[in-house]
Amino acid sequence: MYIGRFAPSPTGPLHAGSLVAALASWLDARAHGGRWLVRIEDVDTPRCVPGADQFILSQLAACGLMPDEAPVWQSQRTTHYRAALDRLVASGHAYPCACSRKDIEAAQAARGTLRQRGAELPYPGTCRPEHGGLNGRAPRAWRLHTGNFSFNDAPAHSLSAESATNSIANVTPLRWHDRRLGTQHQHVEQAVGDFVLLRADGLWAYQLAVVVDDALQGITHVVRGEDLADNTPRQILLQRALAVPTPRYLHTPLVLAKDGQKLSKQNGAQALDVSQPLVALTHAAQTLGLSAPPAGTVGLALAAWRDEWARRWAAGSG
Ligand code: GLU
Repeated sequence: MYIGRFAPSPTGPLHAGSLVAALASWLDARAHGGRWLVRIEDVDTPRCVPGADQFILSQLAACGLMPDEAPVWQSQRTTHYRAALDRLVASGHAYPCACSRKDIEAAQAARGTLRQRGAELPYPGTCRPEHGGLNGRAPRAWRLHTGNFSFNDAPAHSLSAESATNSIANVTPLRWHDRRLGTQHQHVEQAVGDFVLLRADGLWAYQLAVVVDDALQGITHVVRGEDLADNTPRQILLQRALAVPTPRYLHTPLVLAKDGQKLSKQNGAQALDVSQPLVALTHAAQTLGLSAPPAGTVGLALAAWRDEWARRWAAGSG
């Protein structure tokens, strides 16, 4: 059974770029005869805008993109994230970390690595248990030990500590397949290092929340924007640590802003105008390589066009 999802962060209204991901995930679910869920990813509360969640749902509804189940809000699911972290700690996959950003920069500078502009430094593993742990310092965040995780293939929804063994495996570079981008790889331990699961400010990290929810909701196919592709190897490591299945991934083309950058709320993307939903959907469909309604058919019912695009999507995608 195919289960897909669209997982917007309510940091503002949908824009043209986010509609591409929403439409692609909807079309893929329809093309596979599957279910399509919407999950509001509001764990990063300082970035969330009050009311943006309802506004996004109304924009989707105006475009006729209705979820097959009631949407869920990540802010109401923190007990699941806590349970998953407890299991990761019990199985030796997660550990507490006392380092501040300054400590990480200092440790990396001592190794001759300087921070590139705009890039995060990989965590150097200072607080790893095998390096002495916290050394009496107070824990700030919790991290995944990227050099130490399980490869058990457990059934869906299994987040049990028992199924996560503590095997040490040299897993690098991690290879994964994207349905559009093809084979991808990343040496997670070198590229990002032990990444954060529970932040120093007490907020759950996106990586943990998304993996736990995809597993608990039985998501079989993730379809989302290409800007998220480089999160995938981290999410696959977490899935292995939690012994949950890895969904299939498809990362969709990005809509570029005038400056050639990815269109985002940060660079002033306009809220999606859904007063003419077929126009908005046609732009999104064109980004996905689906042709526009022929001239003269603009009056055709929205639902007819969506179904036609779903047929074309099914014909063109595996
Ligand atoms: N909430 C994320 C975003 O809006 C998307 C997460 C995902 O699809 O995995 O960027």
